[in-house]
Amino acid sequence: LGNVSHELKTPIFNIQGYILTLLEGALEDKEINRKYLLRTEKSVERMISIVEDLESISHLETNVEKIKFEQFDVVATCGAVLDALEDKAKKNAVSIIFDKEYAPIFVQADEQKISQVLTNLLVNSIKYGNQNGISKVRFFDMNDVVLVEVSDDGIGIQEPHLARLCERFYRVDDSRSREKGGTGLGLSIVKHIIESHQQTLNIRSTVGVGSTFSFTLKKEE
Ligand code: ADP
Repeated sequence: LGNVSHELKTPIFNIQGYILTLLEGALEDKEINRKYLLRTEKSVERMISIVEDLESISHLETNVEKIKFEQFDVVATCGAVLDALEDKAKKNAVSIIFDKEYAPIFVQADEQKISQVLTNLLVNSIKYGNQNGISKVRFFDMNDVVLVEVSDDGIGIQEPHLARLCERFYRVDDSRSREKGGTGLGLSIVKHIIESHQQTLNIRSTVGVGSTFSFTLKKEE
């Protein structure tokens, strides 16, 4: 609770500051009134992201949304996520691609939640990627499971942080995360979803070289 109130306090006080400045006269100043309203909007967006991520965690923890096992083609699901993130990737000068063309791979999992996992991992690879970097998605067939791997050639993560990365609100670099609109909750949601599928999430990283996040999914029988 302490972390949550701390995280929400920053945008709330920012919004209050902008509104007070507008009330104290900036509202009539055409040069800056729009700037302050845009900043207010950014802080509101930040609060919405935090609350939405908290809601996802709370739903996962209280089992409100049970994992719905269904059969689907994980390659197609991933393709849809890549398409949805294309603009965001372009804006950050990062390419997100499959390493090669894949035939359909059918898995038994919750499609909407796996889509969220792929989105969170790919958004991170964009946020923590380098200019003109490439993020790749790979699939490895391992008999009864498929290994899904999201790797980037970005800033990387120092070894001591790896064990704590999936803790709520844990960030390696606070300012970079906030500047990029991160809530500090993305990876804890990813880990939760993968573990509720009785699978595991693996993280490997080398500073300056890049990071690889991988998880397994049960293949359709
Ligand atoms: P955030 O919203 O801060 O991105 P996450 O839970 O998604 O929160 O990630 C936690 C932290 O892990 C991030 O703040 C960042 O420091 C680090 N991180 C996550 N993904 C990557 C990546 N692909 N490359 C480098 N660092 C990463």
